[in-house]
Amino acid sequence: MTTANSYGQAPAVSTPEGTVVDATGASAARPDASWPVLGLRLSRRVLRRLVLVLPPLAVLAAAVLAADWAEERSRERSDAGARERLTLYRETILRELEKYRYLPYIVARDPRAVGVLSDPAQTDAANRFLKDLAATTGADALYVMDRNGLTVAASNFDTANSFMGRNYAFRPYFQAALDGEEGRFFAVGATTGEPGFFFARSTPSGVRPRGVVVVKVDMDRLERNWLEGGETVIVTDVHGVVFLGTRDDWRYASIAPLDDMVVAAIRSDRQYGGERLQSLQEGPAHATDLEIGGTAYRQARLRVGLLDWSIHYFTPLAEVRAPRRTVWAAAFALILVYAVALLFLRSRRLGRVTAGLRQDAASLRDLNRRLVDEVDERRRVERELRETQADLARASRLAAVGQMSAAVAHELNQPLAALGMFVSGARLYHQRGEAAEVLENLDEIDALRLRMASLTQELKRFARPGESRIETVDLRDCLKTSAKLVRPRVEETGVALHLHLTSADLLATTAPLRVEQVLVNLIRNAIDACQGEAEPRVEARAWSEGGSAMIEVADNGAGIPEELRERIFEPFFTTKPAAAGLGLGLAISARIVEDLGGGLSVRGGRSGGACFVLSLPLARQ
Ligand code: ADP
Repeated sequence: MTTANSYGQAPAVSTPEGTVVDATGASAARPDASWPVLGLRLSRRVLRRLVLVLPPLAVLAAAVLAADWAEERSRERSDAGARERLTLYRETILRELEKYRYLPYIVARDPRAVGVLSDPAQTDAANRFLKDLAATTGADALYVMDRNGLTVAASNFDTANSFMGRNYAFRPYFQAALDGEEGRFFAVGATTGEPGFFFARSTPSGVRPRGVVVVKVDMDRLERNWLEGGETVIVTDVHGVVFLGTRDDWRYASIAPLDDMVVAAIRSDRQYGGERLQSLQEGPAHATDLEIGGTAYRQARLRVGLLDWSIHYFTPLAEVRAPRRTVWAAAFALILVYAVALLFLRSRRLGRVTAGLRQDAASLRDLNRRLVDEVDERRRVERELRETQADLARASRLAAVGQMSAAVAHELNQPLAALGMFVSGARLYHQRGEAAEVLENLDEIDALRLRMASLTQELKRFARPGESRIETVDLRDCLKTSAKLVRPRVEETGVALHLHLTSADLLATTAPLRVEQVLVNLIRNAIDACQGEAEPRVEARAWSEGGSAMIEVADNGAGIPEELRERIFEPFFTTKPAAAGLGLGLAISARIVEDLGGGLSVRGGRSGGACFVLSLPLARQ
């Protein structure tokens, strides 16, 4: 009657999509899809990140190239601009000097100026003439020296720094003029301390000059004009010494370190007075990129063609490099915009995901609420079911009581009727004095009493099977004892009873008397079932299987129809005539076996009849 329920592990099955899922519905972790890139297998996530950093990388690469290009273009532009400016500055220098270049030449021929060389009495007149002329032409000073270098007439004769009586024979322009050449020189005035350009001519021009006429041109005006431009432009002499320009702090310093001999020569000419002639920087003078006073400059140079002067134009390198910074700033701005756009998109996506999650949470809450409702509903149904079951049980108990009462009444009525008959018969025999017949009737009455007693006994057993001694026994012995107990019935009916016992022990800790009661009941039923057969036969087997002792009782009777197999274990179910059975045997047997921790079931036997199988737990070793 036991039904085996097998709970195995849920088998894995394949879906048509090829995904492996187990029967619980959980799908195995899906491998992350990946793509081959440059021989590497990259996952979709890594690829997506790579794609995201590509645009900034491209911008950076482009910025490197563009910055170089922009700086190069800026250098070209700055160089071209510098060249233009230099040409302009050179023109202004030459124009300024050109204005005065021929002044000494003209003055040298004018007796109002040079007459003083032969007649000192003309000094005053010469001085005044020179003063007027200087004022008219804008020359800084105009003066006449005798052939020894002594100044004999000067336009500044009436000033504190008058050149009168001073000797300038040491000046190179004086010697050059005496030699019949054009004397040209730039120097810091030995008397005034003010820088100026000197043009000198001998007078008269020829092999024996009597003196030299000189004009000193003030370059201040030029410088003042240049300063207004706000540019860094300077003029250097043949040695690279700065003597003119927009940078006062660089004046009389050299672009590159000077040779000692050069320094000595400059000092002997007193060209720059007592200036220190330090160097502005340590690198070569012609370098295009150089650093002066902590500022990097780009330098452009142009020869002035006058006394080997050079004019220099300086552009701060920071200005030249500005476009590079602009390019980088633009690149970073672009990357920033990109990053902000990405963040914006991401936050929007996150917003969408959050909204989705919120929706999911809402539907989960809804689902949960429905589940709770369903559980409540199930509990209610279960309660109702239990109540219905209880009602049914009550009803079936009542039905059973009714059935049993009918069966008991039927069982007892017959012997009671017989008893009445035997009692009246005994009375009659007693009146007739037939003592032997009276005794015979009394025997019959006693037999009926015994039958009624056994019936009540059996009913009592069903109601309360009672205790039985528990001990460890060999179940093969129980089976043998049971066979002995039914021997009278076997002999009476002529049914063949065979026992097949395992050779090994079949020990169980159980109630042997109860087990025998069950076995006797099974064998008796089997005998009843096959009685009418041509070769009635009952087979009883005993063996061990797993942790259980198994005993089987099979017959070759008609068997039990499938639909009755469950019902035969119900109390009072019987197919036998009322006198032959109460239908309590199997019900009692099943209850006993259950109490002993075993099971009792029925199936079709090999020889066509029924086969009852009893299982009991084997004793622990
Ligand atoms: P009873 O023997 O008093 O009828 P049981 O509970 O022992 O009561 O048996 C109930 C019923 O089970 C029987 O009436 C019979 O129909 C059926 N049955 C029991 N054993 C067998 C068997 N070996 N072969 C066929 N039917 C059987």
